[in-house]
Amino acid sequence: MKNSFLYMLFSLVFVLSFSCKSIMPDNNDDSIVTKPNFTDTLRVDSCDLNFNYTHQKGCDGKEYPDPMTSQYILPFPEGTVVKTGLTNCSSSYHGAGYPDRYAFDFNKPVGTKYYASRGGKVVLVIDDQPSDGGGEKYGNWVIVDHGDMTYGIYLHSPRYGISVAEGDIVKQGDLLGKVGRSGLAGYPHLHFIVVQNGYEWPYDPIPITFRNASPADVILKSNTEYKVCKR
Ligand SMILES: [Zn+2]
Repeated sequence: MKNSFLYMLFSLVFVLSFSCKSIMPDNNDDSIVTKPNFTDTLRVDSCDLNFNYTHQKGCDGKEYPDPMTSQYILPFPEGTVVKTGLTNCSSSYHGAGYPDRYAFDFNKPVGTKYYASRGGKVVLVIDDQPSDGGGEKYGNWVIVDHGDMTYGIYLHSPRYGISVAEGDIVKQGDLLGKVGRSGLAGYPHLHFIVVQNGYEWPYDPIPITFRNASPADVILKSNTEYKVCKR
């Protein structure tokens, strides 16, 4: 009787430890300070798009455009919620002085589809890098030329995780690829940045706003949930 009780206890501990481990993000890069938490309950269930725009400036003095007339939307489907990791001028590679200071990290599980934040012509696709880091530092990525000397750059898809080809014309909201953790990504996320006058490293980033992100923050905060609203 006592033995079977102990056996059940051990089994329970084993099952619990296994299931806890399985929900932890796969992470082998502790230099990235922000870790995702996909088990968070959603706290954003309504759309507030009353932006309080006061010409907010970024860490190098460039001004964020008014979200009300922004050409950019969050790169995920309407009605869904996305949690940010690092955002504008925060830390690590997104800090002041870095070419990626105006980038946004959107934390999503591997395989989540992402869509064009703004339309344009696909000018570069890298699709053959390892899915789980190593290889080229951006991993697998796609660049969209917006036609006004600005470019949208989307990083870290799994190998063969890009859905478009060089030369394709994409409309805003068209499928571009899947979220992953290739290249310099310690955990699965989409790294999105807009740059100007070319996309060669070190590129010249520009601050952007999203016209459909709720709550209505002009500058998206780090580690914050945003609902993708209709606008
Ligand atoms: Zn990033």
